[in-house]
Amino acid sequence: MKKNKSKGYEYTLVMVMFVVIFGCFAAALSTINPRSEKASVNPVSAFDINLEDGYEFVEADGKNGIKYYFITKSSHTDNDAASSSSTAAVTTTEDSTGSTNETSVKKSTKSTTKSSTKTSTKVSTKSETATTTTATKAEQKDSQKVAYLTFDDGPSENTEKILDILDRYNVKATFFVIYHKNMESKYKEIADRGHTVALHSYTHNYKKVYASEKAFFDDLSKIHDYVYSVTGVDSKIIRFPGGSSNTISNKYCKGIMKNLKKDVLERGYIYHDWNVDSTDAKGNNRDPEVLLNNVKSGLGSKKNVNILMHDTGKSKQTTVQALPSIIEYVRSQGYEMERITEDSKVIKHG
Ligand code: ZN
Repeated sequence: MKKNKSKGYEYTLVMVMFVVIFGCFAAALSTINPRSEKASVNPVSAFDINLEDGYEFVEADGKNGIKYYFITKSSHTDNDAASSSSTAAVTTTEDSTGSTNETSVKKSTKSTTKSSTKTSTKVSTKSETATTTTATKAEQKDSQKVAYLTFDDGPSENTEKILDILDRYNVKATFFVIYHKNMESKYKEIADRGHTVALHSYTHNYKKVYASEKAFFDDLSKIHDYVYSVTGVDSKIIRFPGGSSNTISNKYCKGIMKNLKKDVLERGYIYHDWNVDSTDAKGNNRDPEVLLNNVKSGLGSKKNVNILMHDTGKSKQTTVQALPSIIEYVRSQGYEMERITEDSKVIKHG
């Protein structure tokens, strides 16, 4: 009996100890569980963001349990001279452990006046330190040097090689194409590999293209429709054969360029010339070193450059040879190489 009593006593003791240990464990958990902390944490102090006078913090629930915190300018400032209000949304994301590992802040400025500006600011936090990037996207874009690599008169037997080099350097470019028979797949490949298929001419025959304004637009429509039919791209980006400042057109229709430059814009096209010439059209298979040096000297101190090259097969093989060193040099000078889109900077002659 004594033995049994003693066993019962021991059993009770073990149970009590278990309850005590479990209780301590649960209590400890509740103090370290980040989720229970989260509710009481003020994001301003968590990310060390100092709000200026006149701003206040507002919390809102987003999808998937994400909390959005809006920094809002107090309403009394809405009648400021600029009649503007600004808000900043702080989104906190959490990893599976529940700890906050990234914060992004998007800031937008709205203006009630007709002209409006958009700015954005990204803030990232590592551990508990917030780093604020003060440069806005617009400012970054404005200060970025941009280079547009352009290839005229293709596609050709060189197109594939050019595309491979562009891929190797992860660069996008623009091809001002003309009509070539039996090359449907090449137009499509240019587009499919992420480059811009832009319009140059259907015939590239100056005598025909610049015979009259009607002749010019007939030719332009033909290459537009052809490109659309083989690539699905409805291109509005064009380059005049010979450029907008060409004088050869005067031979066929005096003063036609003045009208065409105005007319193409009215019809919704955007024309691009160039301000750096590789000079690969000034002869066949010119020394690649010469092409590179012309690009080098052409860049000068220009902020935005449109570099003229050609994609015309056998006679321009050295353009392909020079291309890697041209890309490397342009990149070394701090340029971002981009394809031309309808939002790109437009470089025009005169
Ligand atoms: Zn051309």
